[in-house]
Formats: sequence, structure tokens, C-alpha cells
Amino acid sequence: METDSLNRLEDNVPGPWFTTDDCIICGLCGEIAPETFAPDSGGVFHIVHHQPDSAEAEADAEEAREACPVEAIHRESEE
Ligand code: SF4
Repeated sequence: METDSLNRLEDNVPGPWFTTDDCIICGLCGEIAPETFAPDSGGVFHIVHHQPDSAEAEADAEEAREACPVEAIHRESEE
């Protein structure tokens, strides 16, 4: 997927994983991969507060990406 056109939220920490303003705050990603995803400071969206730094965290983030109902979770190298 071409990620340049996505509206990456500014509160995401730098790195390949990010969320966009498509987020509807369903909370799933924060439940599946709390080490990576959390509500932003304003409670408006969920953002990447910590980039995955292990195979397990990466797998959890991928699971969250697949579970997100509005495809608001992306990884820069995704096809
Ligand atoms: S799973 Fe998707 S819609 Fe739900 S809180 Fe996370 S980014 Fe937002």
C-alpha cells in the first residue's frame, strides 16, 4: 500500500508503525498490543506510543493491524 498519502497522526512516535486519523477509538489495538498502541494525550485517537522492538511486539502489532476495523494502523514497508 502507498503510505505517503495517509494522514499519519503527529503524536505517533517516529518509526515504521503509525496510525491515521481514520481511527475510531475502538480500543482494540491497545488491548492486543498495549506495548505499541495507546490513546493519544487528548484521547482523540490511538497512536503508536512505542515502536515494536522485539519479534513478539512486532507480531502483536501485526495482529492489531489486522484487527483494526477501519485500517488505521500501518507499517511503512507494507506492500
Ligand atoms: S484498532 Fe484501529 S480504530 Fe481501533 S483504536 Fe486502534 S487504530 Fe483506532
